[in-house]
Amino acid sequence: MACFAAIYLATLSTAEVFDGVKAYKQYEKKLARLTWRNRHKEPGSSNWKKAQVKIARLHRKIANIRKDTLHKITTYIAKNHGVIAVENLNVSGMLANHKLALAIADMGFYELRRQLEYKCQLYGSKLVVVDRFFPSSKRCSNCLCVKQTLSLSERTYCCSSCGIQIDRDLNASINLHLAVRSTVLASGLEGCRHPQDEGGKSVSDC
Ligand SMILES: [Zn+2]
Repeated sequence: MACFAAIYLATLSTAEVFDGVKAYKQYEKKLARLTWRNRHKEPGSSNWKKAQVKIARLHRKIANIRKDTLHKITTYIAKNHGVIAVENLNVSGMLANHKLALAIADMGFYELRRQLEYKCQLYGSKLVVVDRFFPSSKRCSNCLCVKQTLSLSERTYCCSSCGIQIDRDLNASINLHLAVRSTVLASGLEGCRHPQDEGGKSVSDC
C-alpha cells in the first residue's frame, strides 16, 4: 500500500521518498539571470528576439522536467502498489496562503491526482481518497494521540505522549496507511493480488 500525505510530494508509508517537482526552483535563478541581463534590449530588435527564444526554451525545459518527474513518480507508485491513498487536500485553501502557493503550484498536485487516477485503472491498483479532515499530520502514528497544534515548520513529529520522533511526512503517511487499511479490510480488497506482483505479495505488505 502506498500512502502519501502533506504538501510534500511524495512520502510513502514505506519510507520511500520522492523529491518534489522542484525543477522550477532549480532553473529559477538561471531564468531570472537571463531576464535581468536582457532587460535593456530594444523590444523587436534581433538581439531582443534572440533573448526571447532563449527564455522560451528555458521555460519549456522546466515544464518538460516537471512533467517527466511527475510521470515517473505516478507510474512507479501505480505499478508497484496495490492500494494507494491520497489525502483530499484543501488545495484551494492552501493556495490562498502566499508562502505555500508557489510550492504547491510547483508540485502540480492536481496533475498528480489526475495521473494517479488513470494509472491506477491501467495497472489495476486501487486509489483511496482520505477525507481532508482526518488528522493525519497531528496524530501520532505510534500511540494515536492527537496534538492540538503542529506548525508547518515542525518537520519532525515529536510525540509528548510516547516520545517517538519521526519525520513529519512519514508520520502522516503511516496514519493514512492505518486509516485506509481498515477501509481495505472492510471492502475485501485484502485478498486481492496486484497484477504487477509476480510473487503474489498481498496488498497489506507495505
Ligand atoms: Zn505517540
